[in-house]
Amino acid sequence: TVHMETHGFQTEVKQLLNLMAHSLYSNKEVFLRELISNAADAADKLRFKALSDANLYENDGQLRVRLLIDKDQRTLTISDNGIGMTRDDAIQHLGTIARSGTKDFFQNLSGDQAKDSQLIGQFGVGFYSAFIVADKVTVISRVAGETADRAVRWESTGDGSFTVADVTKEGRGTDVILHLREDEKEFLDDWRLRSVIGKYSDHISIPVELWKAPEAAEGEDKPATEGAWEQVNRATALWTRSAKEIKEEEYKEFYKHVSHDYDEPLSWSHNRVEGNMEYTSLLYIPARAPWDMWNREQKHGLKLYVQRVFIMDDAEQFMPTYLRFVKGVLDSNDLPLNVSREILQDNKITAQLRKACTKRVLSMLDKMAKDDAEKYQKFWGEFGNVLKEGPAEDYANREDIAKLLRFASTHNDSNAQTVSLTDYVARMKEGQSKIYYIIADSYAAAKNSPHLELLRKKGVEVLLMWERIDEWLMNHLSEFDGKKLISVSCGDLELGDLEDEESRKQQEEATKANAGLIDRLKSALGSEVQDVRVSHRLTETPVCAVTDAHGMSSQMMKLMKAAGQ
Ligand code: ADP
Ligand code: MG
Repeated sequence: TVHMETHGFQTEVKQLLNLMAHSLYSNKEVFLRELISNAADAADKLRFKALSDANLYENDGQLRVRLLIDKDQRTLTISDNGIGMTRDDAIQHLGTIARSGTKDFFQNLSGDQAKDSQLIGQFGVGFYSAFIVADKVTVISRVAGETADRAVRWESTGDGSFTVADVTKEGRGTDVILHLREDEKEFLDDWRLRSVIGKYSDHISIPVELWKAPEAAEGEDKPATEGAWEQVNRATALWTRSAKEIKEEEYKEFYKHVSHDYDEPLSWSHNRVEGNMEYTSLLYIPARAPWDMWNREQKHGLKLYVQRVFIMDDAEQFMPTYLRFVKGVLDSNDLPLNVSREILQDNKITAQLRKACTKRVLSMLDKMAKDDAEKYQKFWGEFGNVLKEGPAEDYANREDIAKLLRFASTHNDSNAQTVSLTDYVARMKEGQSKIYYIIADSYAAAKNSPHLELLRKKGVEVLLMWERIDEWLMNHLSEFDGKKLISVSCGDLELGDLEDEESRKQQEEATKANAGLIDRLKSALGSEVQDVRVSHRLTETPVCAVTDAHGMSSQMMKLMKAAGQ
């Protein structure tokens, strides 16, 4: 060993290690999924790099991961021949958490173990899950294409620091050696490992192999069979298989692999398209919003493959921002293998794939809304506010997006957002030709707004909105099903046939009768207002402020004011 150094873990890693032991203990076998998943990622990365430099295979192109049990030493080794890590990689990747916003995440933990445990699963623990079952972890790694003496050994007992040293390693790739805790001997059992691999790693695209020891033949000195590595998983990438033969469980496991989410997905859609464009997509809707959904730097997008070869993670070009919660895989036969983010940026095929994937997600959501309203409501609770960005971002699909929106409404007298525009239209009064809504600061403010008085009297339903994004949404959604959407806080309600002749006359008369009062109000308020009018839209409140149909709404004004404008 040469050049040995000790490093401290990043604070957030220490917190993670601390929490993990308590929170994931009931599901401790997940460590194997994480480590095999990392091995498969390392194989993917090597395969990609070798596209331009086949020498990196070092005459060993059979990518695989092997599990080696040593009962005497009480160790389990997960060994891959993937891309490998340099000394700097090891310090960086196995000592910190690279995701942006990590600090915020940990600062927001409550200290309540039960609650925080929930969150930690969502965060994804990756490599560090090794410490659930091991009290010491040794990683020996050598990068593909480097000489044997350029290897690194990383080691830690998981209590605040780790060491790195220069060592020698013949084969490329990474060995993760778990020194199992006294009470984790179950992971030294061949059958136990097989069952965990079957459960978690069947869909991993490289073989997962276990050593099969030679079997002694009865009464003879020579063994009947020689020892050999035996493949225990199916090792075909899940999305390449036919949807008919894939079990629900397999889809769920694959989701956990691509999403780094410990929860099950809410829904998915698996499609192979042939013809003009050739691609396979497997798209998932998560059950829960990620903790960093509102973080601008949040990584999102699909895992991109070209002709089965992994190209990149987080290819965000294939999903619009308002669908950034979608996870999954896209495998294209049309993109070139040497495609880069730059090429993707401005590419006709990218644009077509994005269009197709967007449609796919919208129709998956539409189907969910129709088939399983309860499930859809769950989706809406998690992602509704993101979907509301849709009409502004994706003009072409705005009608389809609009169908997916859900609102609270005067019809239900509840703050639950369950009413669709389609429901609203079906309940419209005779003579009503517009869809009415109100945006306020809160549900209570919306529901009790004086602006609703007249419509309530006429029995006309009004959609109630109070989320920050609603103003933005409604600015970009002016029509649905050929009907105009009208804010009830704006001057002209465009009541049309709902307006009765009598009240119009009354209003005219009242205007005449109160001409003096109106003049006095106008001169008292001066430039504070544009106009003062007599109105019959109030039934209980004496006066209310409204905005011009073309002017800024009062909510927007508040937003601008808050922004210092
Ligand atoms: P993630 O897989 O989500 O990136 P992990 O905690 O599982 O997070 O792994 C952290 C990083 O460590 C990986 O991104 C990778 O760079 C590196 N790493 C882990 N295991 C391996 C491995 N077997 N071979 C090469 N690199 C690895
Ligand atoms: Mg990982």
